[in-house]
Amino acid sequence: MAWLLDLKQFKRYYTDTLKSISCCDLCGGNVNNSDLLGYSLPQALLCQCCVNDLPYFNQSIVSGNLLSWPAIQRAMPNIHFERLFALSPYRYPFTQWLAQLKYSGRFELAPLFSALLVAQWQALTAKHSIKPVDLVLSVPLHIKKWQVRGYNQAHLIAKFFSNQLALPYDAKLVVRIKNNDSQMGKTGSQRRKNLANAFALQGRVASHIKHVLIIDDVVTTGTTVSEISKLLKKSGVETVTLVTVCLTLPKTQDK
Ligand SMILES: [Zn+2]
Repeated sequence: MAWLLDLKQFKRYYTDTLKSISCCDLCGGNVNNSDLLGYSLPQALLCQCCVNDLPYFNQSIVSGNLLSWPAIQRAMPNIHFERLFALSPYRYPFTQWLAQLKYSGRFELAPLFSALLVAQWQALTAKHSIKPVDLVLSVPLHIKKWQVRGYNQAHLIAKFFSNQLALPYDAKLVVRIKNNDSQMGKTGSQRRKNLANAFALQGRVASHIKHVLIIDDVVTTGTTVSEISKLLKKSGVETVTLVTVCLTLPKTQDK
């Protein structure tokens, strides 16, 4: 019947209208379709100039693994994961966006981060031989922190990321059983001590799962993911890749 709403047509009309009136989050310019490395970003948040201008790491000079960079190797001793993939150093505008996602509930930033990560990840896997990913996880929050904040920003990013790449995601396999003090301002060994026995696996890791990708929003020493990796490796996982939006290295680091 003529008056029935064609939902697909309405959605297209709504999306097109939204895009035509959307302003770039950074420069205020008009946003149409923005893409990164040939991957169309599903967000009407950033114009093409600002997408091109984001402070990405140059993945090609580190062969897609930031752990191959000596300064990062030195800053991350005793880690139990094999690959580190970060979109950007901890710099504007990511600093502002990460705080807005974490503390102000700007949820539209999670699919934006995910889309930026997916584009760079796909470029990386096209260039370097990387083992197929069997499972995606995110760094869990302790239940008390989850209750206070109401959501886990790493989980939101991981959900979109795994969905876009059609990879299996398990939000429940790893739980945080210790509600740690903040890791901020702690040295590497203090962080490791603070995080000892902080995580547990609830359930079996299937025997075919050999390469696990763990998603976080910001990584400083890698200690958190390293602790989770130790547990996974006891359960038969061979390779762990840490994927994060930002990497911020501490100025001084004890061994
Ligand atoms: Zn812009």
